Amino acid sequence: MQRRFLRLGLERQQDFVVHLPLRYEDETRIQPIGSLRPGQTGQIEGEILHSEVQFRPRRQLVAMIEDGSGRLALRWLNFYPSQQRQVERGKRVRVRGELRGGFSGLEMVHPRVTVADGALPDSLTPVYPTTDGLSQPTLRRAIDQALRDADLSDTLGEDIRRRYGLMPFAEAIRILHHPPPSVSYQDLVEREHPAWRRIKFDELLAQQLSLAMARAARLSQRSRAYAGAGPGLVPALEKRLPFALTAAQRRVVEEISADLARAYPMHRLLQGDVGSGKTVVAALAAAQVIANGGQVAMMAPTEILAEQHHRKLAGWLEPLGVRIAWLTGSLGVKARREAIAAIESGEAQLVVGTQALIQDKVVFADLGLVILDEQHRFGVGQRLELSRKGEAAGGALIPHQLNMSATPIPRTLAMTFFADLDVSVIDELPPGRSPVVTKLASDGRRDEVLALVAQEVRSGRQAYWVCPLVEESEALQLQTAVETYERLSQALPDLRVSLIHGKLKPAEKARVMDAFRSGDIDLLVATTVIEVGVDVPNASLMIIEHAERFGLAQLHQLRGRVGRGAVQSICLLLYQSPLSQVARQRLRAMYETGDGFEIARRDLEQRGPGEFLGLRQSGAALLRFASLEADEALAAQAQELARHWLEHDPGKAQVHMHRWMRGRQDYLRS
Ligand code: ADP
Ligand code: MG
Repeated sequence: MQRRFLRLGLERQQDFVVHLPLRYEDETRIQPIGSLRPGQTGQIEGEILHSEVQFRPRRQLVAMIEDGSGRLALRWLNFYPSQQRQVERGKRVRVRGELRGGFSGLEMVHPRVTVADGALPDSLTPVYPTTDGLSQPTLRRAIDQALRDADLSDTLGEDIRRRYGLMPFAEAIRILHHPPPSVSYQDLVEREHPAWRRIKFDELLAQQLSLAMARAARLSQRSRAYAGAGPGLVPALEKRLPFALTAAQRRVVEEISADLARAYPMHRLLQGDVGSGKTVVAALAAAQVIANGGQVAMMAPTEILAEQHHRKLAGWLEPLGVRIAWLTGSLGVKARREAIAAIESGEAQLVVGTQALIQDKVVFADLGLVILDEQHRFGVGQRLELSRKGEAAGGALIPHQLNMSATPIPRTLAMTFFADLDVSVIDELPPGRSPVVTKLASDGRRDEVLALVAQEVRSGRQAYWVCPLVEESEALQLQTAVETYERLSQALPDLRVSLIHGKLKPAEKARVMDAFRSGDIDLLVATTVIEVGVDVPNASLMIIEHAERFGLAQLHQLRGRVGRGAVQSICLLLYQSPLSQVARQRLRAMYETGDGFEIARRDLEQRGPGEFLGLRQSGAALLRFASLEADEALAAQAQELARHWLEHDPGKAQVHMHRWMRGRQDYLRS
């Protein structure tokens, strides 16, 4: 039993107390049979008119019950002799079950039968979330026991309850476990009742407190402070750039620079729509740390992207004397050994790479800053892993961390999930970009599409052709890509067509990307390996085949590969009819807006916060009762109180947290 309770997260009495019902059954009254309708759950009392075991169409026990207002058949397909005796002719019984329209009038299948005329409960009967092998009555008994034994004292004082209009905790808990019949059932199940409001507030408060405490813990950690521009590396880099920073870039560079100059770890999320120029911001942050003697690691989710960063950063920083190492999974044994040695000795000041950077063998001499590009592509564990590298090397010193993402997190989410994350936003694209024109076309119009590709290439530009996503099978995905490539090569014989996909050797991938970048390829047929980050400004046309199979964030990322130069770019979404409702919504969103924040908002709406944030495996159930969208105002109040408490009343904060958190804090750190 203990194990089953644990599976539900029920360990301490407190846990049972806040294990709240999903719904309720009304056993407080007896209903006349004549008033019942199919689909309802009913509770009746009456006399058994007759009962018998029938053998057709199969063995079953059937009884007929009457209460003066009507009669009803009771049916069991499996039964014990004791059940048979319960419904012998002439007995008065109480029966509870779901009503169906049966062959010959109303019936209940497998109803629950008890003796008639017993006392009726005076509150609704709770139905709790449970797990295999744990019955409702057992769970109810355990919870009722906890309600008697546990400390139900209020963690909020009278003044606070009055201020936020909240009912006392014990009262709310009692109402939710055993609602009196006077309570509106509707309010209960829709979680609108004031008792629910109190519980949601408590839950949000606990969450805000734990986030704020994570923050306090971070501020008490120590990092090296990388103050000032050092021996001129930052200004020198700026001078080398072929463009001037936008005002938004300048602002976030300063925010980051100030963080790096502090002696506790930076934990900052840099958000900026695709193409807003996050890479150069990262480079300037890296320069500040390197100029002051620290090491920097930059990790990207794909080899293509890491390669591109390496190229770009090397182009900017190597002429200024910065030594850069390169580390990915596909490196040869010798090159890899050399890279690891350079990282360990501190000779490499900047390390660019993929997940290979978080392997055990890699030890940093003095890691001062960790940069994660497209941070949402990494798991929570991976994000923690890289920052721990610094802990291991520098002893007590924690590296600063800069996370970059083009998937903007809407405000409510940021507030509730990432209170311990400072956010910088690049809300401006570099000048001279014209917005991408998005078009939708059904698959039937392929010829027009081919003509469009040819025309774009004739005017000196380049195009991407993204192959359909085949989620079920990687092999099939590859085959589709190869076929698409062959088909397009045939249809467009004058064009230089090339293919890139995930199964190519890294060196081969790099060669293809190089050729595309330098203009030796007109049309690049690609799988989603080009989804994130790839930057080729002369590419102005993107065709996405079977666009209906892609997610919204993914489509927006793909579209972000074009519109990076001054020429008008087009993103053409080819779809196969008929479209599902969801796919139609997605494509419409793509058509209607190019704004990453708006896209993210709609994506969130369609997928819900857990999946959106990739939190499914890591404790999406952190909020069990409150909802981020519906309870935004309540969350703001909880945040206000959390701040106040931590400053003036940390003891109360501890007590409250203790009631609500069940050791689920780890992932808040990432
Ligand atoms: P993302 O934010 O999507 O990572 P990138 O950093 O790849 O964007 O930048 C997109 C392109 O814009 C790159 O070619 C980059 O060199 C260029 N760029 C960045 N900042 C500016 C700027 N201030 N002015 C002009 N071009 C810029
Ligand atoms: Mg980028």
